[in-house]
Amino acid sequence: MSNAPQKNIRNIVIVGGGSAGWMTAAALSSLVSPQAVQITLVESEQIGTIGVGEATIPDVINFNAMLGISETDFLRETNGTFKLGIEFINWGRLGESYFHPFGNHGVDMNGIDFHQFWLNYQRSNPSSTIEDFSLSAIAAHQNKFTIPDNNPRSVLSQIRYAYHFDATAYAKYLRRYAEKRGVNRVEGKVVEINQDANTGFISNIRLESDATVAGDMFFDCTGFRSLLLGQTLGVDFKDWAHWLPCDTAQTVACERTGELLPYTKSTAKTAGWQWRIPTQHRTGNGHIYSSSMMSDDDAIESLLGDLDGPALGTPRKIKFRTGHRSHFWEKNCIAVGLSGGFLEPLESTSLYLIQEGISKFISLFPSADMPASVRDEYNRQLTQKFEQVRDFIILHYKATERDDSPFWDYCRTMDVPDSLMHKMELFREAGRIFRYEDELFSRPSWVAVMLGQNIHPKSVDPIVHSLNSAEVARSLESMRSSMNKATSQMPTHEAMLRQYAWAAAPAGV
Ligand SMILES: Cc1cc2nc3c(=O)[nH]c(=O)nc-3n(C[C@H](O)[C@H](O)[C@H](O)COP(=O)(O)OP(=O)(O)OC[C@H]3O[C@@H](n4cnc5c(N)ncnc54)[C@H](O)[C@@H]3O)c2cc1C
Repeated sequence: MSNAPQKNIRNIVIVGGGSAGWMTAAALSSLVSPQAVQITLVESEQIGTIGVGEATIPDVINFNAMLGISETDFLRETNGTFKLGIEFINWGRLGESYFHPFGNHGVDMNGIDFHQFWLNYQRSNPSSTIEDFSLSAIAAHQNKFTIPDNNPRSVLSQIRYAYHFDATAYAKYLRRYAEKRGVNRVEGKVVEINQDANTGFISNIRLESDATVAGDMFFDCTGFRSLLLGQTLGVDFKDWAHWLPCDTAQTVACERTGELLPYTKSTAKTAGWQWRIPTQHRTGNGHIYSSSMMSDDDAIESLLGDLDGPALGTPRKIKFRTGHRSHFWEKNCIAVGLSGGFLEPLESTSLYLIQEGISKFISLFPSADMPASVRDEYNRQLTQKFEQVRDFIILHYKATERDDSPFWDYCRTMDVPDSLMHKMELFREAGRIFRYEDELFSRPSWVAVMLGQNIHPKSVDPIVHSLNSAEVARSLESMRSSMNKATSQMPTHEAMLRQYAWAAAPAGV
């Protein structure tokens, strides 16, 4: 063992003030004192942020809880709403839809997965759908919502939820949080990045004003520019466009009309798909498409033709590349957010991947010399996270029977990663799903999308026959009836929000 004293990180510099930058600043400032580690965030109002990213998955609740943020304050400050899952329309076949809920379907029995019992039950009850056994799906279809019950014996403990919110307001909220905890914000455009001649480590950045900011550790949160990791350190980009051919988005908000839905809608279109995200004050919309298979004008026309209310402004075009940097951490620089990689928002995973980038860094917090073993482990874990999410997203495109456009012909017939092919084959055989190494999407998510997109197992797991089928059917019917009863007593989503966290009510950050 070496006797050399360990050199600690004393100065962290975060470049970029979008969701990634401020989430990183907030999380680090909640953990380290400014006396021990000075955190500086540099951002440029002139460049601005991407300003999209309104839908999330339940893990965001853990992030806010880690910061000690009150849920009601957060929802008021960000015009937030509750999200019980996503409705997918026209994905498997035109005219069909299904719901990917947060939370489980039914209850496992004797250690056997619930969906195996349901597959068997459905043979004699062909009109039954797996959604009949998801409390989140039942509540979503009726525009109902309630906060889950902490008592695991209550059926209401089965609700799992996330949020829709205004991402720009979230970054502002986190900025106030981080500044209160000693984060130093510097306004200015970075024009030069200087590296140590011997190590190649980034030593400081120079701003347009000529001021310099030095640090031991740099977070590249500069969005798609990837100014530090990509442009300066030259870390290359692994492109996944051959599996995920969409590369452009047109986004526009519209006036909110009708009931406030507690879920995201994703509608497959001719060469991509359109999202609909309800927040308290407006509805966010975006049309994601492959620019080689649809013109911008057609994409805009299709977007505007499918809004629920009058558009608030004109559509904004965003070009993107799907994939990730071959390393997220190189020398003394980590890319968090769009600078590290991007997967289209079909399953609302970008903010989650930011969270993962931050939490893995915290769990591997290095000494100032940035040991290679620590960096390698970080890169391994983050790459695996991206690949697992990638497979789940590709599944939606691959498992289609649509043949009404060149785009869907391409997706239906394309090769997919072996890891995904293996999952699809196992499910096709006897409905089996395995969750590998801390994978984000759990069994109910895979089951919802596979069944929703018409991958029907050839047989069920023979082990289900070890239980009496009449008794199993009675248990299923009792589960369904207690879920329906619980839903009938829930308030509507809007009533719940008005009582709990409506933005018009006074907030107190
Ligand atoms: C079409 C689309 C839809 C999306 N929808 C969702 C969604 O529903 N859910 C979800 O979780 N995510 C979604 N995302 C992803 C989400 O928007 C981003 O992951 C998130 O906002 C983080 O962005 P960022 O902070 O990495 O980058 P940005 O918001 O682009 O921030 C970059 C920052 O770097 C600064 N900067 C850049 N260059 C310089 C410079 N030279 N000097 C100083 N500062 C500089 C900018 O000023 C800015 O502050 C979506 C993304 C896209 C493209």
